[in-house]
Amino acid sequence: MAEPLLIASNNPGKHRELVHALAGLPYEVITLAERGIRATVAEIGATFEENAALKATAYAAMGNCLALADDSGLIVDALGGAPGVQSARFGGEGLDDAGRVQLLLDRLADVPPVERSARFVCVIAIAEAAGTVALFRGVCEGMITSAPRGSGGFGYDPVFQPLGETRTLAELSIDEKQAISHRGKAIAEARAWLAERAQVRV
Ligand code: IMP
Repeated sequence: MAEPLLIASNNPGKHRELVHALAGLPYEVITLAERGIRATVAEIGATFEENAALKATAYAAMGNCLALADDSGLIVDALGGAPGVQSARFGGEGLDDAGRVQLLLDRLADVPPVERSARFVCVIAIAEAAGTVALFRGVCEGMITSAPRGSGGFGYDPVFQPLGETRTLAELSIDEKQAISHRGKAIAEARAWLAERAQVRV
């Protein structure tokens, strides 16, 4: 019986990408609901690393098993790095993904294309039930478009055009996004660590 690996995220978009990227590893990937966990963990850290570690350790303790958490966000240079660690809460709790995208476009309304540089950051934390944590970071450089394009992905994907691409992340397939995205890069490192760990424990 494979060891359980709890995916510590209630965000459906993130969850879909994480499960897709972890396929084939010798772990039984399980959800918070499958483990009977309904509690949420407050993201009170000042960095992606702190928040990812907070979520992974809290859920590993609640589930009494290995837990993988993702903390990620969008850093926009023209906004002094905002929304950053507050990406999920940009504009307040009342907004949905489309509302946050519109708010971002409004804030950048007078900013010309050359000044619309941005990057997505993802930190994956994997915690053991006993509390030790491993961290993996991935970055995807790009720019904010003037209008949303595409219907794939989630969050700010429709207005994020990766460097060297003519399409937004929302116009890429899940595999194309994974190959270049912040999450894809962080998860590639995490996969290698998980594979190594499984061999050591056999
Ligand atoms: P958190 O990690 O739960 O704090 O939420 C991260 C937020 O950053 C998400 O809710 C999205 O708004 C945004 N975000 C993170 N990764 C992506 C991505 O791959 N595409 C689009 N938006 C993302």
